[in-house]
Amino acid sequence: MSAATVATAPPATPKSALLHTPAELRFVTLDDAGEIAYFRSASKSHPDRPNVTAIEIMTLDTFCFCKAAETNRPCWHTAHVAAAWRAVAYRVRCERMDLADLEAHGHSLAKYVMQAEAAHQPYIAAQLREGLDTTRRVWRERVARVTLLPFPCDAAPLLAA
Ligand SMILES: [Zn+2]
Repeated sequence: MSAATVATAPPATPKSALLHTPAELRFVTLDDAGEIAYFRSASKSHPDRPNVTAIEIMTLDTFCFCKAAETNRPCWHTAHVAAAWRAVAYRVRCERMDLADLEAHGHSLAKYVMQAEAAHQPYIAAQLREGLDTTRRVWRERVARVTLLPFPCDAAPLLAA
């Protein structure tokens, strides 16, 4: 391999990925077959045209319709779309848990976060904390639904949802 080849080969992950997070990719929808997840993100260069990024769930192949992708350059969207999809799938899993399971799951995650921090594993701790934050958000939303009901009420159906 010549030095020119190395110099012109695009990097697998662009430096711009360091400036962004998966949370900037907003889940839009799945295709009709449920195989491709679509995300949207704001375009810095074209504020009137949001970027659309997709991931094939089974193969994790990614597609993007941004300016960089049009010119066959790697973009931060495809670098983060797998993590964005995992976050969506994780949230759906949390939403399907009942309140007791959600609480138990949150307690376990909190314990694992502390263990990872104590073992000086910041990357693992950060990923676990992300899961813990999602678990907390879903738990709070669920509890808020219950507390917004007029009193007295029968909250059992909501708690089982
Ligand atoms: Zn892109």
